[in-house]
Amino acid sequence: MTRAEIIALLNLQGDKIAELYKYGCEARIKHVGKKVYLRGIVELSNICAKNCLYCGIRRDNAALPRYEMSVEEIIQAALWAHESGYGSIVLQSGERTDEKFISLIESALSAISKQTEGKLAVTLSLGEQTRATYKRWLAAGARRYLLRIETSDPQLYGKLHPSDHSFDFRLECLHTLKELGYQLGTGVMIGLPYQTIEQLADDILFFKKMDVDMIGMGPYIAYDGAPLAELGYDKERNLELALKMIAIARLELLDVNIAATTALQALHPEGRELGIKAGANVVMPNMTDVKYRQLYKLYDGKPCLDENAEQCRGCLERRIISAGGEIAPGDPGDPLHFRRRIQRNKYL
Ligand code: SF4
Repeated sequence: MTRAEIIALLNLQGDKIAELYKYGCEARIKHVGKKVYLRGIVELSNICAKNCLYCGIRRDNAALPRYEMSVEEIIQAALWAHESGYGSIVLQSGERTDEKFISLIESALSAISKQTEGKLAVTLSLGEQTRATYKRWLAAGARRYLLRIETSDPQLYGKLHPSDHSFDFRLECLHTLKELGYQLGTGVMIGLPYQTIEQLADDILFFKKMDVDMIGMGPYIAYDGAPLAELGYDKERNLELALKMIAIARLELLDVNIAATTALQALHPEGRELGIKAGANVVMPNMTDVKYRQLYKLYDGKPCLDENAEQCRGCLERRIISAGGEIAPGDPGDPLHFRRRIQRNKYL
């Protein structure tokens, strides 16, 4: 699609919106099938060295008690996932680049890979790191990396982050991850203060240009107390725009994995089902121990804070089926796009 066509789709109103979602859903079934993949998410630490102006666990949130799971707790969560039929998990935390943290992740990855004989696909979502760190984690068993660009517009990025946070370095990290051979995921926030429809259209074109394998994007939801929250936001508009972005991303990128993120459900009780019906094919049950969940709130109104891993999974499986998807137990769900990208590059 051209930029103008994407803008026109983002501006659709009335009955035309449901038609867009229908096309997104049909494109999902045609290009990646009916299966919807589960990624158990482990929020292993809320300690963060950065200070993004929208985030609930930003460094300057002094009121928030901080935690870090031990290596044993991380391994235990991963083994539980493996034994419960998950094919894949996501290890996520605030961003840190100290050696203690790098080694913690490395040790956890090695043990998970060994004890599951490499059958549990691990996605990392641990922010900007050096090339050497990404290499160490890949060698220890990581397979995928999710690093959201948050917005592909450098000027807007500058309004959402303190001046020492670099858009260029974030972009460089995405290129590094791809070069190293990770399955690459990125994404944006939708409905941010200052953000225009044109910038969202450019985000779709950015995903295409970066040739990413996975997309994890969700509606912007403010965190009360974060500096950006003062500017407010429109919940209904953000939900609608987020669903339109899922449908358009599916129509434009076809065979990538697209997540129906938890933030959708924070704005609508059936937000994740709506995401699947618009074209998403991945959902992420929360596997974080309930005692830590309250402390990992990136935004307000995060759902499922008091359900254990078992309940979260059961609930999401029911949601997938009610949205017309099929569960794929034990299937790591590697993005088709990644396989094709690797194949294609062999011949170039
Ligand atoms: S968005 Fe990520 S890097 Fe930024 S403050 Fe929150 S956890 Fe840290």
